[in-house]
Amino acid sequence: MDKPTLAVIIPCYNEELCLKKTVTRILEVLDVLISKNKIKSDSYLYLIDDGSGDSTWKIIEEMHNADKRVKGTKFIRNFGNQKALIAGLESVREIGCDCAVSIDADLQQDENAIEKFIDKYMDGADIVSGIRRDRKTDPFFKKLTAVMFYKTMNILGAKIPPNHSDFRLVSSKALKIMELYHEKYLFLRGFFNELGLKTAYVDFDVKPRQAGQSKFNFFSLMTLALNGITSYSVVPLRFVAVLGFFIALFGFLVGIETVIEKIFWNNSPNGWATAIILSCVFGGIQLFCLGVIGEYVGQVFREVKARPRYIKDVELK
Ligand code: UDP
Ligand code: MG
Repeated sequence: MDKPTLAVIIPCYNEELCLKKTVTRILEVLDVLISKNKIKSDSYLYLIDDGSGDSTWKIIEEMHNADKRVKGTKFIRNFGNQKALIAGLESVREIGCDCAVSIDADLQQDENAIEKFIDKYMDGADIVSGIRRDRKTDPFFKKLTAVMFYKTMNILGAKIPPNHSDFRLVSSKALKIMELYHEKYLFLRGFFNELGLKTAYVDFDVKPRQAGQSKFNFFSLMTLALNGITSYSVVPLRFVAVLGFFIALFGFLVGIETVIEKIFWNNSPNGWATAIILSCVFGGIQLFCLGVIGEYVGQVFREVKARPRYIKDVELK
């Protein structure tokens, strides 16, 4: 196989504190790989400014003017990290590359692993997923929710390896297949896993964020997780149906018991607490089930409107 043209995709949201250092560092990595004859010299970076309110775009423009290998686009507003990644993948497919690696702007992922990604690609892998060695840098709550998310996904049937990240290499073949998926809320971690292309894994160390703060909060992580679940599994809907069946069965049996008691022993009242508890529990279960169904209805609603995934304001090629 011929050595590839590599595109490195970096989503950026208010990253003025990190960006210069990150871009310089990634350009160095490209230079080293070029000198080792592992990638072609027309390899480049593609930065997506996800509607930042700070000077992120100005920095991107400056770096583009200094080195044309720095390309990028600016979103008209913030669309979120997944959309920025999707835009990056679609843009580099358009510009042209043999493989693309996505990495965060804060350089938390070990950029030296890119070389291993390329080696795996040369061995024939179409997807190389970065697997975090540990979650030392994550706060306790994020660690806990991440473990819960991957466990849930696996129970629900979407086989995503735990400690998976959006640090991955995809080949132009995978990018081409992506064109066939019109889902607006494409969940990349699920998508690249279910394609069935040859996949390899590379462990990497997670570093502390270089500067600035994490752009994810509880709600954005929750949204990402719920989208992942509702995009890749209908098991919760089935669970609701099965749960409903058993609760109905239980209600039926309790009903018979009540009638029998009334007829033969005539001792109806006495049971205020039971009545209250049952009505609360069942009220809760019903609302929970409605919520689960609502999540799927919401997913259908968002998809059926077919709004654009993102809107580019300016593009530097
Ligand atoms: N990001 C983005 N849009 C957003 C939020 C985040 O493009 O709305 C980018 C961010 O600039 C970074 C990457 O997504 O390059 C990962 O974000 P962050 O490092 O804040 O997440 P964490 O590492 O804490 O999970
Ligand atoms: Mg980070």
